[in-house]
Amino acid sequence: MSRLSVAIDGPAGAGKSTVARRVAAELGLTYVDTGAMYRAITWKTLQENKDPEDEASVSRLARDTDLRLTAGKGGVDVWVDGEKVTEAIRTPEVTSQVSRIAGQAGVRKVLTDKQRAMARQGGVVMDGRDIGTQVLPNADVKVFLTASIEERAQRRHLELVRRGFEVNPEQLKEEIRNRDEKDRNREHSPLRPAEDAVHVDTTGLSIEEVVQSILHLCRSRVSGGE
Ligand code: C5P
Repeated sequence: MSRLSVAIDGPAGAGKSTVARRVAAELGLTYVDTGAMYRAITWKTLQENKDPEDEASVSRLARDTDLRLTAGKGGVDVWVDGEKVTEAIRTPEVTSQVSRIAGQAGVRKVLTDKQRAMARQGGVVMDGRDIGTQVLPNADVKVFLTASIEERAQRRHLELVRRGFEVNPEQLKEEIRNRDEKDRNREHSPLRPAEDAVHVDTTGLSIEEVVQSILHLCRSRVSGGE
């Protein structure tokens, strides 16, 4: 189990990070939040007043960034050049720009290489949009998590309110819809399920139910049952 690689992909707000973190903890694997990596590069691009459309400059910035994920108290801490940006990468401003940056081949190459290097160090549960299709095409377990747009918007709303942001639920739904559309229709590594991914619709399911079904999948792969 300690070398197992688990890929969890899906649209925004499907519950990937909460579920992936729990599965990793249960199995003693490292959790890698690849969305946080795209957010970190987006944050730094905005911070340095770089044009997010200037692909050469964004990919150079990505290459020159010391980007680290470490285990924090409530989840993963994200560090950019030694600065902790765990909260800063979750602002509505970063969220509204991240898909533009994630659509660029240069930055994807830099981050994909980094994600594969992380997976080579030991067992991982990695969540994102292209993990099962591009980053870890040979992952032992591939899951594609979905949920209705209403439920995804409601979950994001609760999460943002908990962190102190005022957001209009309808606007949030629109933002999620837009981001999904950009992620699905981009040229490079679009959001889509791998052919061998197990689809899990989390609408109406508790986190615990989703975690248990993925754990079951992982255990049966290890024992050769499926
Ligand atoms: O998972 P999260 O919602 O934090 O991801 C933020 C954005 O990062 C996504 O909307 C997507 O544009 C991008 N992303 C990606 N590939 C990944 C993970 C995230 O393009 N593997």
